Amino acid sequence: MYSLLDVFVIGIGPSSSHTVGPWEAARTFAEDLRRVGCLEAVAHVRVSLFGSLALTGAGHGTDRAVVMGLSGAFPDRIEPDDVERRWEAVRKTGRLSLLGVREIAFAPADILFVTTRRHPAHSNALQFEACGSDGAVLREATFLSVGGGTVIREGGTTARGAGRPVPPFPYASAGELVALADGCGGRIADIALANEVAWHGEDAARGHLDAVIRAMFACIDRGLERGGVLPGGLGVQRRAAELYRRVRAASPGHPSTHDVLGLVSAYAMAVNEENAAGGRVVRAPTNGSAGTVPAVLRYYRDHLGGGHAGMTRFLLTASAVCDLFRRNASISGAEMGCQGEIGVASAMAAAGLAAALGGTNRQVENAAEIALEHHLGLTCDPVGGLVQIPCIERNAMGAVKAIAATTLALHGTGEHRVSLDAAVETMRQTGRDMSDRYKETSLGGLAVNVINC
Ligand code: SF4
Repeated sequence: MYSLLDVFVIGIGPSSSHTVGPWEAARTFAEDLRRVGCLEAVAHVRVSLFGSLALTGAGHGTDRAVVMGLSGAFPDRIEPDDVERRWEAVRKTGRLSLLGVREIAFAPADILFVTTRRHPAHSNALQFEACGSDGAVLREATFLSVGGGTVIREGGTTARGAGRPVPPFPYASAGELVALADGCGGRIADIALANEVAWHGEDAARGHLDAVIRAMFACIDRGLERGGVLPGGLGVQRRAAELYRRVRAASPGHPSTHDVLGLVSAYAMAVNEENAAGGRVVRAPTNGSAGTVPAVLRYYRDHLGGGHAGMTRFLLTASAVCDLFRRNASISGAEMGCQGEIGVASAMAAAGLAAALGGTNRQVENAAEIALEHHLGLTCDPVGGLVQIPCIERNAMGAVKAIAATTLALHGTGEHRVSLDAAVETMRQTGRDMSDRYKETSLGGLAVNVINC
């Protein structure tokens, strides 16, 4: 099962699967070299990126992320500006310090973008080879970046949750989760919190929730202050700050219902503009979809008068919903298309908002289902391989749909024809059947129909 600490991770942009995952893989490989005692013998490292990582990795900063990981940096601790500074230093000197202790010759050309074939194991695979001074391979390893910043070794399973005690309330489906919560007269958030406390202790669980709330709102605030053009060469202008200013000016005091949706859109876009600029964001569930949940959480706090207890219930519920998607389908755009990123984020936000507003467990499940159902089939086709078009606006759409889904669910009885489990399975099957052109390869959709110059 995925914990709150796996679902909401404070990190760095622009992509969880193409930036954070490869970063973690590279650091794990370097730590392996130290663990098996061959770090000091390494003279050279070669890295091969396959599939979607090769096709859109340049736009997502995968090469920089690999260098950061090999050098031993952590994405949740590094200052965003340091990434570019360190990358430039490696480019200029042709030297890289493995884990900060073993200096080797390394150039960006040592990272190969293998666009001619897909790795048989996964659409986001990367292979590392460490060689000695005689050119002999000392150690090699292949990792798969399976979404949300999670990496697994080829042939392995996710290490998330390894070593954790069995939770007091295990479940495998939304139906089981709702039955568990109803059975003990509680809420889905109570089940999620009890499991988190068993895994991490109450202080750590509540501390993480508070840190996530702070980081989400800080990211919105930064994004609402910054203008200019986003990096990457597409010439995409930041719009969140101007949108926010215009909507605020149009309805000072209490914004109209219509203008509130403009503000929610500005919150979501602020986060994803920060993400596109390589700033500090909270994966929710991925970097590309990091704006939807914070925007709806901010809507709950600033426009519905929500307090801390409600925000905690919101995030615990959203985390439990995300866990279902990760275990029963996927949150990777490279596997599911954008339905697995924005669709899941919207479902998380809808469930969280419904829970915060006092919905029953069935209404919460219904809200998540409605939000997902109307993202089914959504393709991933980022223009220029950058997490900008359509990603930034798409987070705003995910947030607005989440609010609408919550409204529909809370004005119903909780009875509904399509279960969340059926919608998750439908997403899984749709993702499986979707052409690879629409799964984060930038080989179809908007990516080939928008002139990139
Ligand atoms: S189109 Fe959707 S899935 Fe693809 S990179 Fe953008 S946000 Fe992620």
